[in-house]
Amino acid sequence: MFAYVDFSYTEQDEAFRLELRTWLDENLPRFLAEHDSGEDDGDRQMAGEQSQERRRAWQRLLAGGGWAAVHWPVEWGGRDTTPTERLIYAEEMARYRTPGMFNANGIWQIGPMIIRWGTEEQKNRWLPSILNADEHWCQGFSEPDAGNDLANLRTSALADGDDYVVNGQKIWISTAHLAKWGLFLFRTDPTAIARGAKHEGITAFIVDLETPGIERRPIRDIADEEMFNEVYFTDARIPATSRLGEEGQGWIVAMGTLGHERAGIAGQATILGADLDAMIQTARSVNPSALDDPAIQERIARAYTEIQLTKLLNYRAFSKILKGEKNWPEVPFAKLQWSYLSQSLAELALDMLGPLGALARGGPDAVDRGRWTRLYSFQRYSTIAGGSTEVQKNIIADRAIQLPGKARLG
Ligand SMILES: Cc1cc2nc3c(=O)[nH]c(=O)nc-3n(C[C@H](O)[C@H](O)[C@H](O)COP(=O)(O)OP(=O)(O)OC[C@H]3O[C@@H](n4cnc5c(N)ncnc54)[C@H](O)[C@@H]3O)c2cc1C
Repeated sequence: MFAYVDFSYTEQDEAFRLELRTWLDENLPRFLAEHDSGEDDGDRQMAGEQSQERRRAWQRLLAGGGWAAVHWPVEWGGRDTTPTERLIYAEEMARYRTPGMFNANGIWQIGPMIIRWGTEEQKNRWLPSILNADEHWCQGFSEPDAGNDLANLRTSALADGDDYVVNGQKIWISTAHLAKWGLFLFRTDPTAIARGAKHEGITAFIVDLETPGIERRPIRDIADEEMFNEVYFTDARIPATSRLGEEGQGWIVAMGTLGHERAGIAGQATILGADLDAMIQTARSVNPSALDDPAIQERIARAYTEIQLTKLLNYRAFSKILKGEKNWPEVPFAKLQWSYLSQSLAELALDMLGPLGALARGGPDAVDRGRWTRLYSFQRYSTIAGGSTEVQKNIIADRAIQLPGKARLG
C-alpha cells in the first residue's frame, strides 16, 4: 500500500535545529581542542578509562546546556522534545560527529524507564546521577540461555524481609565493570517457566553493583577489548526499595527499554553516511589508487545508495508514528538493513586502505589510530545485538510477508 511520507519541517522544528547547531558551533570545537580523542571512536561504546573520562566531560557539557537528555521531561533536565525534534537531534549530533556519551544507556534506555515506572523517591535518587554523568550505568538483561529468548531468564530474586536475595548469572553486560548502577531483570516467580508462562514473574530492579555477592568478570572480545562482562550473583541482597515497578511487571518495563534501543538504532543512517565520507577521505590520502578501482567505485556507489535507502526506511517508519500508526514492518527491516550495511561498510573501509588496513590499533603506522581495523572486527556485533538477523528475518517472514511457515504448511 502507498505510504505517504511528509518531509517538511515546521518553524518550531527549524528553530530547534538552529538552536542546537548554534550550541554545537559554540561548544564542540572548544571541547575537541581541549580533549584529545585518544581511543574514542564516535558513538561506539569504548571501555578505556581515557575515553570514559572524555565521555563524562562531554555529557556534562551537554547536560549543562540542556542537550544531554532532550527526550526527558523539562523538570528532570530534558526538553520534552517532540518525535520530530528527536529525529533532528539524532541527525545533527551524527552530522557533527559528536563524541559518545558517558551514560548513553542511562540516558536513552534506563532514564525513561525510571521516569515511567519509578516512584518520586527513585526519580530523585537516580535521575540526576544518570543525567550529570556522576555514576556509570549498565543494562543487565541477557543470560547464557536468555538472549533472543529473553523471557527464558532464570536469575532469581526471592523476597526475604526488606530485601530480595539474588542468585544466578548474567552475560554480555556492556561496561558493567565500570558501572555503579544497572537496570537488571530477575525472576521473582520461579514457577513461571514450568507453568508455560515465561513472560510472567519477571521483575526489574536497579542494582548497586558494589553490593556484596556480586562479581563482575570482563570478557575479552573480538576487538581485543574488555567491553562486556559476565555478572555473577551469589546470595546478593538487593533492597526492595530498588524494585522498579511492581513484581511481575519486568517484561513491560523491559519492552519499553528495548523500544528506546531500537529507536536509537533507527537513527544511525546519518552516522553510516559520515563514516563512508571519512573512509573515502582517508583512502584518498593513504591509498588513492584504490579509488580508481571500478570494483571499489561500484561498492562506494552501492553503499551510498543503501544508506539513502536506510534513511528513507527510517523516515517512513517515523512518518507512521507521526500519523499515530504502528511503525511496522519498517523497524525490523531497518534493523536488518543497518546491520548488513554497517558490516559491509567496515569491509569496504579495509579494502580501500589496502595493505595498511591490516595494521591494528596501537602500532605506529596504524591508519586513523587503527579505527577502521577495529571497526571491521567490532562491527560483527551489529547482526547479534538488538535482535539478531535470523530472528528479525523470521519475524518479517512470519508477520510482515506472511510466508507459509512450518505450522501452516503442516
Ligand atoms: C556488543 C554487544 C553488547 C551487548 N550488550 C548487552 C548489554 O549491555 N546488556 C545485555 O543484557 N545484553 C547485551 N548484549 C547481549 C545481546 O542482547 C545478546 O547477544 C542478544 O540478545 C542475542 O542473544 P545471544 O547472544 O544469547 O544469542 P542467541 O539468542 O543464543 O542466538 C544465537 C544464534 O541463534 C540464532 N537464533 C536464536 N533464536 C533463533 C530462532 N528462534 N530462530 C532462528 N535463529 C535463532 C540467533 O540468530 C543467533 O545466530 C550485548 C551483545 C553484544 C554483541
